[in-house]
Amino acid sequence: MTYDNNNIFNKIIKGELSADKIYEDEKLLAFHDINPVAQIHVLVIPKGKYLDYSDFITNATSADIAYYFSKVAEIIKILGVDSGFYRLITNKGVGAGQTVMHFHTHIIAGDSLPNF
Ligand code: 5GP
Repeated sequence: MTYDNNNIFNKIIKGELSADKIYEDEKLLAFHDINPVAQIHVLVIPKGKYLDYSDFITNATSADIAYYFSKVAEIIKILGVDSGFYRLITNKGVGAGQTVMHFHTHIIAGDSLPNF
């Protein structure tokens, strides 16, 4: 599968679609999910064009991978849930439920998260 520049998250990065942003810098963007499954549901995306976790972990630089995951931790703190409960999810591939083919991590938090 090749990266599609017209995917929704790339449009958000380019400013062609709006999003409720909570953090942005030159390398990544965090915004509220349009269809939250819990009280807090935030997506963190690198601005680089990676299809999914496997693409990112294989092809991004070690520095960019470290930067991304350290920022995920920082955003968890910004959300105020670092000492509480949260769940991190990345769906890789259609069979796992990935619907937007631009790598992203879900930060999901709330009073009681459903088991799965
Ligand atoms: P996936 O299913 O690929 O793991 O997650 C994609 C997520 O993107 C879903 O939770 C979905 O609700 C969210 N999403 C899809 N389109 C938009 C959009 O236009 N704006 C925002 N903020 N979230 C979106």
